[in-house]
Amino acid sequence: MDDCIFCKIIKGDIPSTRLYEDDDMVIIKDISPQAPVHLLLLPKEHYANIIEMSEAQAATLARCLKKLSAMTDKLGLSGGFRLVSNKGKDACQSVEHLHIHILGGGQLADRMG
Ligand code: 5GP
Ligand code: ZN
Repeated sequence: MDDCIFCKIIKGDIPSTRLYEDDDMVIIKDISPQAPVHLLLLPKEHYANIIEMSEAQAATLARCLKKLSAMTDKLGLSGGFRLVSNKGKDACQSVEHLHIHILGGGQLADRMG
């Protein structure tokens, strides 16, 4: 998608702090962190959210999460972490390219919402 900020980040047209990349995804630092460690897992394929996700994209996302599970210590998440994916207005989704927030690096609030 030409006007998608995360597609531009994935292509390298917009700079980001990239911690991991493979054929399926990139993991970058969020520009406005809401936790000591706040990362974004971006599937390389553009789709807006999990409602728009195809079966094949769901399989790719599962593979991405499995790979993430093998690198959490290296990412500074050994004490635990929270995964969040916002969809739509009520959840305040601001970028229409599916992304998983990865939050951790310290004690998080015990309630969400
Ligand atoms: P959403 O609100 O859609 O769930 O999350 C979008 C996230 O993308 C926000 O946490 C925001 O800080 C992050 N973000 C927006 N623009 C950029 C950017 O240009 N670079 C990076 N690294 N993160 C961004
Ligand atoms: Zn995109």
